[in-house]
Amino acid sequence: MPAFIKKLKNIFSHQAAPSPKPADTNSWHNWSRRLSCEPANQIAPQSLDELAAALKSAAGSIRPAGSGHSFSALVPTDGTIISLSGFTGIRDYNPETREVTLGAGTQLHDIGEPLHKLGMALKNMGDIDKQTLAGAISTSTHGTGANLTSLSASVTGLELVTTSGAVLWCDKDHNPDIFRAAQVSLGALGVVTAIRIKCQEPYLLERREYTAPLEDVLDNWETLAKENRNIEFFFLPYSDMVAVTTLNVAAPDAAIVRAAPETKDPLETLDSVHRWLGWSKKLHRAVLNHEVRKEKLKREVDQSYKIYPTERNTRFNEMEYHLPRENGPAAIREIRDTIYNQKLDISFPIEFRLVDGDDAWLSPFYGRKSCSIAVHQFHDRDPMPYFNIIEPILRKYGGRPHWGKQHTLKAADLAELYPRWNDFLKIREQLDPEGKFLNAHLSKILGVGPKTHAPHPEAKNGNTANLPKP
Ligand SMILES: Cc1cc2nc3c(=O)[nH]c(=O)nc-3n(C[C@H](O)[C@H](O)[C@H](O)COP(=O)(O)OP(=O)(O)OC[C@H]3O[C@@H](n4cnc5c(N)ncnc54)[C@H](O)[C@@H]3O)c2cc1C
Repeated sequence: MPAFIKKLKNIFSHQAAPSPKPADTNSWHNWSRRLSCEPANQIAPQSLDELAAALKSAAGSIRPAGSGHSFSALVPTDGTIISLSGFTGIRDYNPETREVTLGAGTQLHDIGEPLHKLGMALKNMGDIDKQTLAGAISTSTHGTGANLTSLSASVTGLELVTTSGAVLWCDKDHNPDIFRAAQVSLGALGVVTAIRIKCQEPYLLERREYTAPLEDVLDNWETLAKENRNIEFFFLPYSDMVAVTTLNVAAPDAAIVRAAPETKDPLETLDSVHRWLGWSKKLHRAVLNHEVRKEKLKREVDQSYKIYPTERNTRFNEMEYHLPRENGPAAIREIRDTIYNQKLDISFPIEFRLVDGDDAWLSPFYGRKSCSIAVHQFHDRDPMPYFNIIEPILRKYGGRPHWGKQHTLKAADLAELYPRWNDFLKIREQLDPEGKFLNAHLSKILGVGPKTHAPHPEAKNGNTANLPKP
């Protein structure tokens, strides 16, 4: 058997990924390095007073930044980028309600251990833990689970500093409208400095990874989603197979089990197979199906915050849409058939997850139980030819784009997808009338420009009825 096929046995492993290095110059770039900018200033205030003074004196656009893990251009500016690295750690906690208030710049990987010591844990997490808390909630970062919400919906209060330097505490009783808008704000309302999160008691999770035919998984999807606390799968293009991951709570006295780290990134292996066998769809499919079926079950048990995050060694760009849950299976089948019939040059697995609904105004999960479908492309290949073919399918099935991932929607398209769109815009106008927190991307997706508030020219995409008046 050729050596490259043997390497397929690694396909479900993950390896440590280096985070973006701090810039030597004043330049900024995101994790995938597709986005970059040369801001006039990058600052990291150490106190509320310093932050308020910086906001009042900043000339030009101001963009708060987290860890730069968004794929959409929410951060780039030629004005000022503000880091919340001076606002980290636990500020306060309530053992009775199991709520904790953290500095907004705290990275997710710094939360698990201290929370554990306090007898608490996050209810859910996404694929990685490199994001800051504020960055994660600002785009509605999510994990998977039929009855588990995004991180933004676990927020029960937050502190927001506006352009005027005002410090506002917001929760359901104080500034309730600003709270609903700021739970998912795209960093367009001001700088979030502290976040209160509803947690639960610590828990052990058992992770199981196995392969199965896509059609079997889709046929049993409702049962699988009900029976597993967290479930997701990756469809492997040009095969009939998926890699399934389930997470379930283990008994408190269960033994800790960790798998040995893999030595080769599975994405490279899949891509090699695609390069070598891509000339014959039949052979490609047969080899992938054969090899993937032989995968053995992988099992791990550990504290939840150690089980959720995986490491992403290979840089990529990503588009993800959140669809009404019932549309998920049809959408994934159509994507599979499109890749196959149009012979799309793609080897990157396609991710399928579940997220519960919530009521944050700009949450892509607003008012509906959702499934999320994400497509990826290696960082050194232009993702747009692929994304441009898949995006209309995701839109056709009622998808709302992940705010932190690539999409081409403009204000008029987005206004139709969000029942509380105009309410959000009113709060934005009230808190930042001069549009200091806007950049080109935000102007395009929100349909407002700095100072003049004229709709961004690109925001006009057919129906402009819901756009704010210039
Ligand atoms: C490898 C990888 C894996 C990922 N996995 C997942 C996943 O499993 N699930 C998922 O949903 N997403 C995932 N993402 C996307 C990521 O979670 C989001 O894009 C998230 O917003 C990034 O957080 P960040 O700290 O890097 O913030 P940035 O990307 O730097 O900023 C994101 C937004 O937050 C705003 N912001 C940051 N700090 C503040 C603040 N203090 N006040 C106000 N606004 C602020 C910014 O202005 C911007 O609008 C992944 C991304 C990568 C690169």
